[in-house]
Amino acid sequence: MSDCVFCRIVGKQIPATVVQEDADTLAFMDIGQVNPGHVLVALKSHADNLFGLQDAQAAAVFRTVARVARAIRDAFAPQGLSVYQANGKAAGQTVFHFHVHLIPRHENDGMNLTWPVKNPAREKLEEYAAKIRQKLR
Ligand code: 5GP
Ligand code: ZN
Repeated sequence: MSDCVFCRIVGKQIPATVVQEDADTLAFMDIGQVNPGHVLVALKSHADNLFGLQDAQAAAVFRTVARVARAIRDAFAPQGLSVYQANGKAAGQTVFHFHVHLIPRHENDGMNLTWPVKNPAREKLEEYAAKIRQKLR
């Protein structure tokens, strides 16, 4: 048996409350429920994080993300919805099987992500962008 908790959920070896399933993805309720209606969309195949996704898998995940987001909006009428996805411990990832959070949001709901902007000069943006462009494949 896999020691990955989300592989076990996908394999129906441990229970989860499923909202949607297709060939590539499984959407199920996050056990922690930051707000009511908090759903995780996981890739069925094991990938530790975003860096392990093939293009078709990335497309499949985002198709499910958008579809389930519309259903959460219609079911819970939140004031907003955050899409959150962590890669690596430093980014806050705790389950190392790729997944995306869909979190209904409300004013002053206590979910805070600090956003320490640096507002660098335009030349810095050009420098950063050039580094990234060089690595695109
Ligand atoms: P991460 O921090 O990796 O982005 O999020 C992992 C999420 O998985 C957490 O929000 C946590 O509540 C959820 N989680 C962890 N274990 C289980 C589980 O066994 N079942 C379900 N449904 N969610 C889980
Ligand atoms: Zn896994």
